[in-house]
Amino acid sequence: MIISVASGKGGTGKTTVATNLARALNTQVTFLDCDVEEPNAHLFLNPKIKESRDVFTFLPKIDEKQCDQCGECRDICRFGAIATVGKTVLLFPELCHSCGGCFAVCPQKCISEDKRLLGTIDSGTAGKIEFHHGILRVGEAMSPPLIKRLRKDHQKGETIIIDAPPGTSCPVIAAMHETHFIVLVTEPTPFGLHDLKLAHETVKQLEIPCGVVINRANLGDHSVQEYAYSNNLPILLEIPFSKHIAELYSRGILLVEAEPEWTATFQELFRTIINCAELERSKA
Ligand code: SF4
Ligand code: SF4
Repeated sequence: MIISVASGKGGTGKTTVATNLARALNTQVTFLDCDVEEPNAHLFLNPKIKESRDVFTFLPKIDEKQCDQCGECRDICRFGAIATVGKTVLLFPELCHSCGGCFAVCPQKCISEDKRLLGTIDSGTAGKIEFHHGILRVGEAMSPPLIKRLRKDHQKGETIIIDAPPGTSCPVIAAMHETHFIVLVTEPTPFGLHDLKLAHETVKQLEIPCGVVINRANLGDHSVQEYAYSNNLPILLEIPFSKHIAELYSRGILLVEAEPEWTATFQELFRTIINCAELERSKA
């Protein structure tokens, strides 16, 4: 069972839900922090990192001596990563999506394979949790290839929990792709509702069953609940706002560790997720 925990915007409690869920299960869990631009699940799970490895992506390298400036590489590059100025072919590495198109079309075969550092993947353990997170290199704009590598290299495990990046763009899709259930974490405010709608639309496109966790549920209004009811979106859990919970978060302490009664709540959340996923599967 692969569960993604996502949110339409940052700061809604996505990592709180993902990390507490992983810890509450008290069983072998693989945890992937795919929020590679700002991973922070390790602050709560405190894994012992045993391995750190660099991840690279393909980058074309043009041999100017053999190049006849035909411009075919520029024409095929739909990301504008190659330009020609007079007799010079310019490559803009930060725009390159590593598609390999220029490499394939060059008639002179003067483009070779170089590589660009995307970031690192750290792996370790946090009790029964097998922990992995990606850290995007500072200045690197392309996070999806690093997220895809993190997903691809760590697909094994009966239960995989993914802390997805916030938002609804390519990095989120890369993290949520081919998962069995998506937990959308939101808060009951106009901003929360707006971003929930965007995230829900994205999830519908992916055709993955999903449900909502409402964080700080006793603040704001009821518009998120009303949206969920009218869109057949199950409300999986409501976490109330409390100064104590906020303080625990600010100190990097898991709710289930500070207040053990939350363990049963997150275990119940897991059972609800499984039931919802099975229900959706039976309808398909
Ligand atoms: S690999 Fe693809 S994205 Fe990168 S420069 Fe070549 S054509 Fe453009
Ligand atoms: S396709 Fe090859 S030969 Fe043509 S401009 Fe690009 S690098 Fe030069």
